[in-house]
Amino acid sequence: MEPHDEIENRLPPDALFWAMEPFGPPLGEAACSMWDPKRFPTMREQQAAFDGEPTVPERDIPQARAMCCTCPLLEGCRRYAQDSRDEHVFLAGETAEERRKKWRKAGEIVKRRRRVAELYALNVPTAIIARSLGQAERSIRSDLRELGKGRSHLPPTA
Ligand code: SF4
Repeated sequence: MEPHDEIENRLPPDALFWAMEPFGPPLGEAACSMWDPKRFPTMREQQAAFDGEPTVPERDIPQARAMCCTCPLLEGCRRYAQDSRDEHVFLAGETAEERRKKWRKAGEIVKRRRRVAELYALNVPTAIIARSLGQAERSIRSDLRELGKGRSHLPPTA
């Protein structure tokens, strides 16, 4: 039996679809699909805010964020934002720039943890890892915890 057939036999079709669907905008009644005149003077301005081109950013972005907070599709939208890596529109309470910053930060953490893992494998003490990577020791300890590595056999500082 092919692996795919095996999965199909084990899961209900809906569950399988949602598990395997790579990404797609959430289905249902989105808060941003209806004009909220209490938040935006015109439908066009609301649309512009969600299209990532707010007319008055300091006014429109907080309003769009507030709408997302009440949206029943928030979780699905967050997943879509993550999976699609959309770089323009406002999604799940975040601007494209805010998402980019998060992704950059996540990428930096992955890179740092890779270095921490390499140095750990070479038995370098935590304090030296911290100094060489320009990080606080507690960040390195936290990285090691995330990496599932204990430090009991090494001195905590050098
Ligand atoms: S979470 Fe925000 S952007 Fe996403 S569908 Fe809802 S209102 Fe629209």
